[in-house]
Amino acid sequence: MSRNKSFQISIPTDKDGFVGRACDAHGCKQYFKIFVPDHRETLYCPYCGAQFHKNQLITANQLKHVREAGLEEVREYALDEIQKMFKSAFRGSKNIKYTPGRRRPKRTVRPHYVERKVDTEFECAECTVKFQVYGIFGYCPGCKCENLQIYDANWANIKRKLSTEESELQRTLRHAYGDLVSTFEVFCAQRGKRLTDEKGNFQVLFDARKFFKKHGGVDIVDEIETSDLLALRRLFQKRHVFIHAGGEITERYVKMIPEDKPLLGTTAALSVAELETASGAMRHALGKLIKSMERKG
Ligand SMILES: [Zn+2]
Ligand SMILES: [Zn+2]
Repeated sequence: MSRNKSFQISIPTDKDGFVGRACDAHGCKQYFKIFVPDHRETLYCPYCGAQFHKNQLITANQLKHVREAGLEEVREYALDEIQKMFKSAFRGSKNIKYTPGRRRPKRTVRPHYVERKVDTEFECAECTVKFQVYGIFGYCPGCKCENLQIYDANWANIKRKLSTEESELQRTLRHAYGDLVSTFEVFCAQRGKRLTDEKGNFQVLFDARKFFKKHGGVDIVDEIETSDLLALRRLFQKRHVFIHAGGEITERYVKMIPEDKPLLGTTAALSVAELETASGAMRHALGKLIKSMERKG
């Protein structure tokens, strides 16, 4: 009997050929899926950018399955070996004849889980890896690219979740305003990390602007038309009042958006048109940031 014996156990995929992965980076631990034929040796977490080998990041469910299927293989193998041993031990013996007993057939171990449903499927235009993620993400897991394409995928996803039903629209708009600000935050944090150890507050548009002026020498909003920029400023402030003031236009809000002074004390109005204008302006700002950093290498 050889000392080392290896068994190949495959991890089952979902019906579309994707396999789940669970990031093990501290503070991330998020779930995503990658199309099996698109797995490369090295992959990246789409949320935090951590690098990992394709055999890492298996989920707890997958691990359980692999263990169970592995045990069945080992059981089969051990029984075979034992029977072979007995056969050869009694070969040629006149008094003892060895007849192997009947064995239960090898069991096919089926997984006790199904991969989770994830809401966005995305194919990277740079490296063609197909993957699925939850909510906001910042990187392609195949090539780690983090260009505007990733912004566009997030934006498409935010828009797709907007309800077409009037009664639900305000609620879904509140989420959309928040998600768009989160997308901005993820992008700015990625870039900011490369420029300095100083942490920026990218939930506030003008703090982000100041940050990149100071550390990157670029004004990310100076080329945006005034009316578009107003929509972007409102996006940040409205998100803020919906989280902290029940949606009311506060003194603090008016200080940031003096244009809305007559609305003091009313509930901030959210609209698809404003969200779209703000998204276009945000794309412009992030594009400018990306270009300015490419130039510097
Ligand atoms: Zn991660
Ligand atoms: Zn890619």
